[in-house]
Amino acid sequence: KFITIEGGEGVGKSTQIAFVREWLLAQGRETVFTREPGGTPRAERLRELLLENSGETMPDECELLMVFAARSTHLANVIRPALERGAWVVCDRFTDATYAYQGGGRGMDVSQIATLEQWVQKDLRPDLTLLLDAPLDLTSSRAQHRNTTIGTTDRFEREQREFFERVRSTYRARAQREPNRIVVIDASVERDQVSASIRAAIEKHLF
Ligand code: C5P
Repeated sequence: KFITIEGGEGVGKSTQIAFVREWLLAQGRETVFTREPGGTPRAERLRELLLENSGETMPDECELLMVFAARSTHLANVIRPALERGAWVVCDRFTDATYAYQGGGRGMDVSQIATLEQWVQKDLRPDLTLLLDAPLDLTSSRAQHRNTTIGTTDRFEREQREFFERVRSTYRARAQREPNRIVVIDASVERDQVSASIRAAIEKHLF
């Protein structure tokens, strides 16, 4: 099974992934935990290039192609081999993030993203996607303290709030269109309650 975990900045994704890791590892099943952009040495180098603030202009197209380049090598070296040997894969962000950030956030053409998705992934899609969702008023203060967002340029900072509103609404719209795959987890409640919802969603959909 292929599980992806998505959400905007500051929704508590890392904390909840740590919970999922402990819980699934305790089940005794082989589970591979990985992340995007990244997950292999080559893809992690691409991640560094995506996140660095070098002063060189990053065209949207370059960003999108690098995200999919990283995904391609991640799929070939980690995700597909793991799924083929029957392991579960839990990935911190995947292609829904590309729709949310490059599509919703940057306003890139969604049909181009869909073309790249089909080209790079063939028919591989997550079996279950957990979308951690909370209002920006709750999450933006935490996110602002982190300086690891792709494209933290002047333009980006000025438009940060609108950008993250578009990211969030794109994620939510995708969840509405694909309710069988994407489960919205209310991340505005207390941490243990969020974990309980995640656990219930995995048990319902995959056990
Ligand atoms: O998940 P994590 O917070 O580690 O992601 C690192 C950064 O990369 C995030 O700030 C996110 O905004 C950004 N990102 C992106 N486009 C993607 C995936 C991640 O801008 N497709």
